[in-house]
Amino acid sequence: MSLLVVGSVAFDAIETPLGKVERTLGGAATYFALAASHFTPVRLVGIVGEDFTEQDEAIFRGRKIDLAGLERAPGKSFFWSGRYSQNMNERTTLVTELNVFGSFRPKLPEAYRDSEHVFLGNIDPTLQRSVLKQVRPKPKSVGLDTMNYWINGTPQELRETLKRVHILTINDDETRQLTGEHNLFRAARGVFKMGPKTLIIKRGENGAVMVHEEFIFAVPAFPLEEVHDPTGAGDTFAGGFMGYLASKGRISEQTLRSAMVYGSVLASFTVEQFGVERLAQVTKSEIRARAKQFARITTFKL
Ligand code: AMP
Repeated sequence: MSLLVVGSVAFDAIETPLGKVERTLGGAATYFALAASHFTPVRLVGIVGEDFTEQDEAIFRGRKIDLAGLERAPGKSFFWSGRYSQNMNERTTLVTELNVFGSFRPKLPEAYRDSEHVFLGNIDPTLQRSVLKQVRPKPKSVGLDTMNYWINGTPQELRETLKRVHILTINDDETRQLTGEHNLFRAARGVFKMGPKTLIIKRGENGAVMVHEEFIFAVPAFPLEEVHDPTGAGDTFAGGFMGYLASKGRISEQTLRSAMVYGSVLASFTVEQFGVERLAQVTKSEIRARAKQFARITTFKL
């Protein structure tokens, strides 16, 4: 089933204790689309500048990713640079250059308007809402990611957008900031009042917790001995999660639980190498094998 994503397509400079890259293709929508396209066709909405070449575009080719909604504008693409601490739990943003993203006004191609599943990547909540308004009839599921910048900077706009969202994917700090509540399970109740009835709290190397009005489900991060670069793990998680849900076309406790596992599986590939290097190579059988290992890690007898 059709899955639309709006978000950044960017160039990143990344430094981690295990290495450094000066310029690599990144952006939330890039990671999301690469992950989700293993499960369902993806329609990408974003903007790039003149520095985005045929070679950059090649990474999306041969996959079920529609780029009709990827606008090209004069100027440079979004650029982001970040450095990770020794234990990789903390990240410092060194540079954020909006460039063409600064004047981005998403306009959906006609063929995108009937999308049944929508993911609003981390951008201005007013733009997220403008995308949603262009989708008709109302989508079956709407996921949203955001960050402290929008939670603190444009709280009213974010609240307005959240009213139309089913699944919110944020990290623990963001959950606390959004709700003013330290305890994450009490915070989840605050989120339910804002609109989303499913909250997914991304906790990096500690995995992810899903708090639904009627149940809770948690997954660990896949046990890896070496993490090279955590960039894009959250967006990859969201892509695996929403891609799986859209492929099932049905949102139930069962599909939500499995989607959590596929999100974690996809994210575990992303962090193995810098940028999208590993994610762009992963095969269906590798995904299946890791999902099976996940089942073994988490199954027990009562
Ligand atoms: P994550 O590690 O999941 O937070 O995602 C990192 C990706 O998000 C990088 O590829 C960046 O290009 C992109 N990114 C970083 N900051 C922003 C921002 N303010 N708006 C949109 N995308 C961003």
